Amino acid sequence: MTNVTYSGQVRYRSEVHAGEHPALIDRTTWEQVQAVLTRNRQKASVGLGAAVLLQDLLHCVQCNTGMKLRTLWQDLRRSRAYGCSCPPLPGAPMGRAPVQAAAPVERLVLREIQKLAQPAEDFRAAWATWTPEEQVLLVRRLVERIDYDASQGSVAITFHAAASLTLAGELAQRPEDSNP
Ligand SMILES: [Zn+2]
Repeated sequence: MTNVTYSGQVRYRSEVHAGEHPALIDRTTWEQVQAVLTRNRQKASVGLGAAVLLQDLLHCVQCNTGMKLRTLWQDLRRSRAYGCSCPPLPGAPMGRAPVQAAAPVERLVLREIQKLAQPAEDFRAAWATWTPEEQVLLVRRLVERIDYDASQGSVAITFHAAASLTLAGELAQRPEDSNP
């Protein structure tokens, strides 16, 4: 699961120009992010709450379907993954594309959402207080689609045009001190 690397793009709906999609997360950046995440695993900045966080939002570009949650067995350990309708790749080991381990891609998406928040600490604090259902709803209000290309190992996130405003609104609704 951890040897999956991504290069990808983050797009904002209002800024998409034909043939001009700058890859904001290059492979090196992603690897650096992964390294930081590994180092900070104990005090993970954003916990992954909802089991179905990206179900159907994550989209396989090969078979053009929304990916569903699956259980992935690796070394006798169970982990969550997203799968699609692609036929298995000939000769590919179990667990390779088109099945995508859930946690790395969820971290990537949350990391990008966090960048929309001003400041990022507000998002981390708020995220921890939301229920899994609220987390799923929020992600769906911000992210229009996530394209996963198994052949390239790339992930492209498309945010709704008003994603930063939506997120700012959600964060503003929270009291400064959210202790119940
Ligand atoms: Zn597919």
